[in-house]
Amino acid sequence: EPDSRLVAMLRSPSEILFGTGQRGALGRVARRYGSRAFVCADPFLADGSHFKELIEGLREAGLSVVTFTEVVPDLPVDGVAAAVAAARQCGADVVIAIGGGSCIDLAKVTALLLSHGGELEDYYGEFRVPGPVVPIIAVPTTSGTGSEVTPVAVVTDPRRTSKIGISSPYLIPDVAICDPILTLSCPPAVTASSGTDALSHCIEAYTAVRRSSDPSLSASRVFVGRGEITDAFALTGLRHIVAGLQTACIEPSNIPARSRVMLGSLMAGLAFGTAGTAAAHAIQYPLGALTHTPHGVGVGAILPFVMEFNLKQRVPEMAAISRIFGVEAVTETELAAKAPDAVARFLAGIGIPSNLADLGVPEERLDWVAEQSMKATRLVQNNPETLTVMGVRGILQAAMSGP
Ligand code: NAD
Repeated sequence: EPDSRLVAMLRSPSEILFGTGQRGALGRVARRYGSRAFVCADPFLADGSHFKELIEGLREAGLSVVTFTEVVPDLPVDGVAAAVAAARQCGADVVIAIGGGSCIDLAKVTALLLSHGGELEDYYGEFRVPGPVVPIIAVPTTSGTGSEVTPVAVVTDPRRTSKIGISSPYLIPDVAICDPILTLSCPPAVTASSGTDALSHCIEAYTAVRRSSDPSLSASRVFVGRGEITDAFALTGLRHIVAGLQTACIEPSNIPARSRVMLGSLMAGLAFGTAGTAAAHAIQYPLGALTHTPHGVGVGAILPFVMEFNLKQRVPEMAAISRIFGVEAVTETELAAKAPDAVARFLAGIGIPSNLADLGVPEERLDWVAEQSMKATRLVQNNPETLTVMGVRGILQAAMSGP
């Protein structure tokens, strides 16, 4: 049943280009924003033909281009100042990211500091960016984070135990250009972990709480968060990911499979960029800090156990998820109950660890993980079943030994 108030919202870039060959539009699109481009590019691209072609496209469109390729996975904060200095020196009118989620997030925080100065930690949390930033164009080369359409940038700060996010509508890229051809070079491990991240975005956004979270809007009772629009993106995104991800891992150059996963990941970003994520993401932050495993791998290892924990609160949603995985059952409740296992089997099929022991989590650190998880307040409050330290501890205990 739709929410009786039938209200919905979506935060998104002003333009999204999706499809093979769409990267050819980069120069024309960037020219709208000025004549000086600062390009953050993932190092894997550096000597490749795609990168050359994209930079030439920008120059042919009349832009001067300065490139920055010192992008480090998981975005350690100490590397950000060099990017900001380079962008400032070239007087960037537009910041362009060509790379994975870490690269796109670097472009976001570079644009943020270029526009508003200060230290990154001044902006940690939600709604702390005071106004618009230099325009951002995102050209993703992985299918996973959805960062090309989200208001979020995630950084690693050595002064904090877990990763930390900056979330603001001002950090949504102005334009996302998603060309599946740029993902063909992703090795299977990156495809699996980033694809699992996208899959979990769909499931967490689709089962999130419905609430009004923006303090500047709640005074006027404007609805923000999960609603009919994000549900539509989450479900369709999940369908695409389930249809394409296994093939994309086994056959990296399969363009139809890559296209489906990239479209699914884009839709997942549109869903969670407004609806948010929840417990699986909150728990991954300390898991990642402890095991140094990729974000998507940690989220995937915990997701089925979080779904089990949330089951009673989200029966129709879990049943819909089961249907997408081709599961059958007589009653809606039975169908819903099979959703965690359907997700677990699917993820095991692409090599995601099915328990925390395989992820490298020592039993004696579970209390610490549970406590740290609760610090991600925004995500904790977005979980459909009320989360407490004891609740997270229970999820972790179940996940330790696996299904
Ligand atoms: P990534 O950007 O860290 O890249 C992983 C590795 O793959 C890197 O070595 C990179 O150089 C390489 N790579 C990227 N594209 C490639 C390609 N086409 N071919 C070959 N190699 C390629 O991985 P990711 O999963 O895209 O991003 C993860 C980061 O994004 C984490 O820091 C995570 O916390 C963050 N994140 C951000 C959001 C958001 O909304 N901003 C959401 C989820 C996660």
